[in-house]
Amino acid sequence: MTVLLFGPPGSGKGTQAKDLAARLRVPHVATGDIFRRHLKEGTELGARAKAYMQGGGLVPDAFTCEIVASRLEEPDAAKGVLLDGFPRTAAQAEWLLAWLSARGRRVDGVINLVVPDEAIVKRLTGRRSCPSCGATFHVEFAPANGEQCSRCGTPVIQRDDDKPEVVRTRLETYARETLPVLPVLRPVAPVHDIAGTGDVAEIRARVFAALGLN
Ligand code: AMP
Repeated sequence: MTVLLFGPPGSGKGTQAKDLAARLRVPHVATGDIFRRHLKEGTELGARAKAYMQGGGLVPDAFTCEIVASRLEEPDAAKGVLLDGFPRTAAQAEWLLAWLSARGRRVDGVINLVVPDEAIVKRLTGRRSCPSCGATFHVEFAPANGEQCSRCGTPVIQRDDDKPEVVRTRLETYARETLPVLPVLRPVAPVHDIAGTGDVAEIRARVFAALGLN
């Protein structure tokens, strides 16, 4: 099964992705995570993506599609994948549909997490991440910047792209570049619009129900 998780930055795609990928028994492929890993490891790819990411813009399509193609060609993704944060432009969506169709595959479902802008700004600017194990937290619930990760003990940080001015740019980028993905997908795949507000477990139940999973 090939499923796409769609929604603005901070809509909870990453949180929902973990459970959903496990339930679908497909790999979770998040382009943001791939880019961040390259950035952290100091690869050439990371260096190319860095300026776009830190400014809140998008990494160019050709480069992003190349990275996704090489991930999708790995054996564990042969029967399906949960894509998180991709496609993020109409051109990426067209590319993905063509790539899948050339292999006799299609998009089986799209989960569109809908969250109002004000809720997103609050979530993202309060988000802290552990640079070591990748756990994420919200300052309202601790730990705060510089305090220790409750999972592995490393001091948590605020991602550069979760700073308020960058969050605003990311939301503008989403509205301008990413929303146009939906009209490309709607005619060819079931798109489920799901309220991404409320309790994580409630949202998960809505997502699973939309895909007919129990
Ligand atoms: P995310 O963690 O999904 O919010 O991604 C972090 C950053 O990585 C984004 O703000 C973009 O700069 C870049 N990025 C992630 N996915 C894509 C994509 N599909 N196309 C272009 N840039 C992306």
